[in-house]
Amino acid sequence: MQFTHEHREIQKTLKRYIDEHINPHVDEWEAAEIFPAHEVFKGLGDLGLLGLTKPEANGGAGLDYSYGMAMAETLGHIHCGGVPMAIGVQTDMATPALARFGSDELKREFLAPAIAGDMVGCIGVSEPGAGSDVAAIKSVARKDGDDYLISGQKMWITNSLQADWMCMLVNTGDGPAHKNKSLVMVRMRENGKLVKGIEVAQKIKKIGMNSSDTGLIYFDEVRVPQRNRIGQEGAGFIYQMQQFQEERLWCAASTLQSLTNCIEWTVEWAQERKLFGASLADQQWVQFKLAELKTEVESLRALTYQAVEHYVAGEDVTEWATMAKLKAGRLNRTVPDTCLQFWGGMGFTWENKVSRMYRDGRLASIGGGADEVMLGILSKIMGIAKRPVK
Ligand SMILES: Cc1cc2nc3c(=O)[nH]c(=O)nc-3n(C[C@H](O)[C@H](O)[C@H](O)COP(=O)(O)OP(=O)(O)OC[C@H]3O[C@@H](n4cnc5c(N)ncnc54)[C@H](O)[C@@H]3O)c2cc1C
Repeated sequence: MQFTHEHREIQKTLKRYIDEHINPHVDEWEAAEIFPAHEVFKGLGDLGLLGLTKPEANGGAGLDYSYGMAMAETLGHIHCGGVPMAIGVQTDMATPALARFGSDELKREFLAPAIAGDMVGCIGVSEPGAGSDVAAIKSVARKDGDDYLISGQKMWITNSLQADWMCMLVNTGDGPAHKNKSLVMVRMRENGKLVKGIEVAQKIKKIGMNSSDTGLIYFDEVRVPQRNRIGQEGAGFIYQMQQFQEERLWCAASTLQSLTNCIEWTVEWAQERKLFGASLADQQWVQFKLAELKTEVESLRALTYQAVEHYVAGEDVTEWATMAKLKAGRLNRTVPDTCLQFWGGMGFTWENKVSRMYRDGRLASIGGGADEVMLGILSKIMGIAKRPVK
């Protein structure tokens, strides 16, 4: 994958916005355990950055996914994981199915304002009793005239303390677990106030990704028009599995720059830190470990770029996206951990950039499908597990 002048220009525009409008506030937002999503998204929307891969008819740029990847990579310049993740939810996790299968009316109501940065979205799949096992979700949408009445709980929902809408996976029938679900666009707030029947039960306190708000949300007979369903009734599980492909590509791409930064910061530190009459970087062990980590990150880059090339070519990238997500999860643990060690006591302090990466990066092996879920998918594709996916 070769980046063109256009890819580079998009990256420059985003980097400038990050330097001027995001990074100066990151420490404050991390401490507050929330960031002003409406303000930041409006800024990004005004620059045309929230709909790079979305249809022009809805205000997007209609570009291929390589541009989404270029953007995800540049988000790694943000000095925390929480804000990039919140942006990724808006661009690559909560909107792909809406853009692909939503009606024109639904796209006008929810996608266009999300691209403009006028609305904040979230994706509601996980529940207290169902995370890895998506088919086991319990939330229900019961028909009532032309509406659905939605009841249930959604847990771990990124952006949900501020979101205007949720793309929500719910059971709309009694059939087999993979054929009884639908994705429904649920308006969460009107003029900033929660709609009737929706309650923020808890703002979840986490070990990392602190600037990102994460909620447990209750739904009690929330009235939603049936026309808010994305695509066919009963196809929600399949749509969500497809939507996960972009989420997983995004996860891999968004870690490339931040992992690179982590290594570069540590090289600089090791060159400056003096011990035993030399610099830490003079120790061959340190040199070799950092060289090894860089090789690992570049391997992830090659894998991710290849996955995106296949995706842009219109191929099924389940296998590629799964491998890239798995490798990203692994490296988000080993790279910050190895680097942190070289910072000694400084690495163990809260404010240290590498220690923030160590805490934030831990999520990559859990969210959007845990490492073991990725291994399960790959085992099926490889024909090792009983039910082959292909
Ligand atoms: C900060 C944060 C933000 C999130 N944002 C969102 C969001 O915006 N929207 C949303 O819907 N969800 C979100 N999630 C939820 C996330 O996707 C789930 O946490 C994840 O899918 C794991 O589900 P679980 O937590 O229920 O763990 P479980 O499903 O209970 O799994 C626990 C552990 O079991 C192991 N495991 C799972 N399957 C297997 C297997 N087949 N074989 C062996 N071991 C296995 C894994 O190690 C896994 O970590 C978020 C989570 C966090 C922590």
